[in-house]
Amino acid sequence: MDIESIKARLDSEINQINSPESLEALRVKYLGRKGVLAQLTSSIPTLPQEQRASFGKEVNALKNKVIFLLDERQKSFASLVSESRPGFLDLSLPGIAQDLGRLHPLTQVIKEICDIFTSMGFLVVEGPEIETEYNNFTGLNIPLEHPSREAFDTFYIAPQATHPSPNAKSRQHTAGSSVQQKLLLRSHTSSMQISVMKSRQPPLAVVVPGRVYRPDAVDAAHSFMFHQIEGFMVDENIRFSDLKGILEFFAKRVFGEDIKMRFRPHFFPFTEPSAEVDISCIICRREQRRENREEKKCSVCEGKGWLEILGSGMIHPNVFKNVGYDPKKYTGFAFGMGVERIAMLKYGINDIRLFFENDLRFLRQF
Ligand SMILES: [Zn+2]
Repeated sequence: MDIESIKARLDSEINQINSPESLEALRVKYLGRKGVLAQLTSSIPTLPQEQRASFGKEVNALKNKVIFLLDERQKSFASLVSESRPGFLDLSLPGIAQDLGRLHPLTQVIKEICDIFTSMGFLVVEGPEIETEYNNFTGLNIPLEHPSREAFDTFYIAPQATHPSPNAKSRQHTAGSSVQQKLLLRSHTSSMQISVMKSRQPPLAVVVPGRVYRPDAVDAAHSFMFHQIEGFMVDENIRFSDLKGILEFFAKRVFGEDIKMRFRPHFFPFTEPSAEVDISCIICRREQRRENREEKKCSVCEGKGWLEILGSGMIHPNVFKNVGYDPKKYTGFAFGMGVERIAMLKYGINDIRLFFENDLRFLRQF
């Protein structure tokens, strides 16, 4: 083969390249395993001894030229694609993902529950997380000796002994107590019953969502901070059957129309009578449908078939006296539920800590 004629042909062939495919075809033609240059190289041993060295040099130079020209051509294709040309849109490029935020699962559940109650005419009210001992305990008929008032069951805020508050006297007065009001991180949202009832007159129908705090060791079922929704209704002639009707409507909206509900007698200082409310276990219900297996105990209800969802009762007459309502004229009910518990049952979540770890792999599922 004549190297000079190959060189001449190469130039015109390079100029005819008009696509990455034709570029590749030319690369195979010259540099492939059975390409032009491989053939030239394999012909070297057949040449007379004295011509081999100079021919080898020429073949090598040609090879470098081919590599150089093909690379140049390749670069010009690449720059064509990446060059910023006005109006040029490469539809084959992957898109830019928009990282949209969303509401935390607990916020979603709070919103869902509040929407159910506002659809029945309830008002959503929020209150302070730092409360007086009076609103959190005394006003709610929780006596001084009650265990929940112990320092290991409530986060008290240490009084600033060296800088007494100028309002200390007036607070003392409004609380009707001879000692200065202690402050604390509210241990339930029930404290808002006192603030709302003191500042408004019946009829009242209120739900109070918010954070509450208790010095519990953190584990799969406990957290030092969690969320509650308190609800209460006060008017003339409010009856226990009103409480039952409203809670049944609520439970069926959250957990499904086919759940059963039961009231279990219980004791709370601020309601009389009081009851804990259970729903039929939504986990067993699913499993029973699939297969009726007696030997496998449901781990959520421990085989009982019922799940506690909230506490409730008729507001104690002493609470009405504490806020200045006439307990002979007004009656009412109150209930309180843990939002995390509702969310865990609703979504089948088995560890409360997942809500607070900020792990996107968890949060993106809701
Ligand atoms: Zn169960």
